[in-house]
Amino acid sequence: MRDRRTTIFSVLLAATLAAAVAPAPAYAEPAGVTAQAEPNQVQNLTVVQGDGYATLGWTPVGGATDYQIERTPVAADGSATGPAVITGVWRPNRQINNESPTFADAGFNPGARFQWRVRARFGTTEQPYSAPVSGTTSAPWGDPNVPGENLRTQWETTLAAQYTSDVEEYAYTKALDEASDRVRVTEIGKTALGRPINMFVIGYPTPPATPAAVAATSPLMVNCNVHGNEPGDREACLIMARKLAFSNDARTIDLLSHTTVVIVPTINGDGRAANTRGNSTGQDLNRDYSLIRQPETFALVNMLRQYRPVAGYDGHEFGNSSAGDLPMLPPRHQNVAKSIFDESQHMIEGHMYTQGAKDGWWPCPYGCNGGGNVGLSEETILRNTLGLKNVVNSLLELRSSGGTTRPDETNTANNRRRKTFSALWTFNQFLDYHRANLKEITTARADAITFQVSNTGRIVFRGSRPIEAHPAPHPGEAPPPIDAPKDGQILDNAPCAYKLTEEQYNGARTDGPAGLRTTVAERLAAHGWQVVKTADGYVVPLAQPERGLIPLLLDGQGVESLVDAERVYPTMTGRHAGKLVVSGFTCLREATVTGPVRVQPGATLVATGSSINGTVEASGAAGVFLTSSKVTGLVRVTGASGPVVVVDATVDGPVEVSDSRGGAPLLAANTVAGPLSCGGNAAAPVNLEVANSVQGPKSGQCAGL
Ligand SMILES: [Zn+2]
Repeated sequence: MRDRRTTIFSVLLAATLAAAVAPAPAYAEPAGVTAQAEPNQVQNLTVVQGDGYATLGWTPVGGATDYQIERTPVAADGSATGPAVITGVWRPNRQINNESPTFADAGFNPGARFQWRVRARFGTTEQPYSAPVSGTTSAPWGDPNVPGENLRTQWETTLAAQYTSDVEEYAYTKALDEASDRVRVTEIGKTALGRPINMFVIGYPTPPATPAAVAATSPLMVNCNVHGNEPGDREACLIMARKLAFSNDARTIDLLSHTTVVIVPTINGDGRAANTRGNSTGQDLNRDYSLIRQPETFALVNMLRQYRPVAGYDGHEFGNSSAGDLPMLPPRHQNVAKSIFDESQHMIEGHMYTQGAKDGWWPCPYGCNGGGNVGLSEETILRNTLGLKNVVNSLLELRSSGGTTRPDETNTANNRRRKTFSALWTFNQFLDYHRANLKEITTARADAITFQVSNTGRIVFRGSRPIEAHPAPHPGEAPPPIDAPKDGQILDNAPCAYKLTEEQYNGARTDGPAGLRTTVAERLAAHGWQVVKTADGYVVPLAQPERGLIPLLLDGQGVESLVDAERVYPTMTGRHAGKLVVSGFTCLREATVTGPVRVQPGATLVATGSSINGTVEASGAAGVFLTSSKVTGLVRVTGASGPVVVVDATVDGPVEVSDSRGGAPLLAANTVAGPLSCGGNAAAPVNLEVANSVQGPKSGQCAGL
């Protein structure tokens, strides 16, 4: 060690003397200023400090095949306090613009001071090092002398020797809650072993008071730790929550003034405590978000229904050491609306690739560089579940080991710090993306909801959208498998609805932990689906915002379905002359009714893509679903005993929804030429933050829709 250090100093001293410049501070000056370039020597090395990382940038050397990044701990006077080590290898597939190489050096203890040099290699032949740059890295965020700001996690205080325990997490979480007006910590459920599952709700100057009020701010969500043995993202979440809680910098205030950030640090507290992938029953929770057999996944899905985040990230670690720093992936399941897939891809490839190239991090599609058969279409994976719930989102994998491009990570603490601070970078970028692209995100969500309620297009039980390859050598040159739907996984003729028997709907289940099992009825309610009680069962129409997910759980052809419910097909297509009286269950698909429609008490109407030449009146109906349809007269739904769903309808007359006794009527994305009035509904109508266009006045319970 000593010899090597001496050698480095000798080289540096020689370079300094050769340039015949003033003796100090040579180390801090950019290369190219103080010395004549040697052949193939890296020039113009710069360093910029980030949160837990330092971005090195330089001018590329013609013919270089890769670059090595060297880091040396130094004192304030520039003298080395430890050995120089190669901490990074830059390769051309790191970033989309090879003309401006950058490398996020990380793994060091934040706040320490270092010197960096970079050299090119031609094959394995090393070229001369650049002149050095040095700097003090950013200390952990928060003034140690300011209460609240001075909170630190167990992971921070032990310098990454320990992960933050459950007990320490609860204490830290409680302290943040008590010290910051911006933070509310709410318990969204309990694990199978009874551990609280907490969620940070963070807004400025205070978070909105209720879940519905949070939903109105188009919140974003980070799910930090589903696999208990992948804790890197969770530590980033805890650190990020502290900065959001106390920082008064313009960015933080701006972000929190425009939305609400919800963070679930540990959905799998039992698995984290035991350092196991699954929960205490051994269930992989990221194969359960559609089925919600487990209390943890049930709690998260129940939260999604109430808080309605428009965008999300789901944190993991990944065992492929040859992949990028940050494998990411959008919701690929083919039942996810294309607008959600496209916007999620834009967030990843449009934003994360671009910012990664500026800051030196290396995002790539999950599965990149020999990642294997991963990143597929299971709707049980949160990435896909969220997409099927019309949430723009991405998976995040922190490459678990350093591999050849981060050779100094055989040191455990260094490895842990690189992972956690790469997650912190991603989550901060996610916040910035949401802030800058909220209109695009909410437009994608509105388009997705109107697409899904139309119940058009085929059903795919399993199968992904392809991820297009980037041209080599850029990130994304090796995308995940195509994962096209196989034979028997496509249903071209989608039913109108599924019908469940009493036993299927309310019967006892054998899946899930004993003593904590939930019925299908409870799970569908947690998802937020509308269900019509009929004389002989329970009907779930597909004309709903989560249409793409419904068959995956209720159709016997689904790969992991809950029940084999009966497919109910439309009862009327084409033209119906004159008045239509609905009794029992009537489903119109692309039908034309040349007169008014009257829904009798206890009857159910489902109409998609249809045209009604007259009024639609329902009194005491069991359910009314009117989506992607045109009505030339008024729409009046009074005293419904079950769901009322009117979405993406064009109504030439007034719309009135009153005295519903079921759940909250859903009135969204409608174009109404007359007034919109609501009153006396047991639960106030909602629009899922997709506004109606109403020419007349909006009044009563619909005044804000
Ligand atoms: Zn994972």
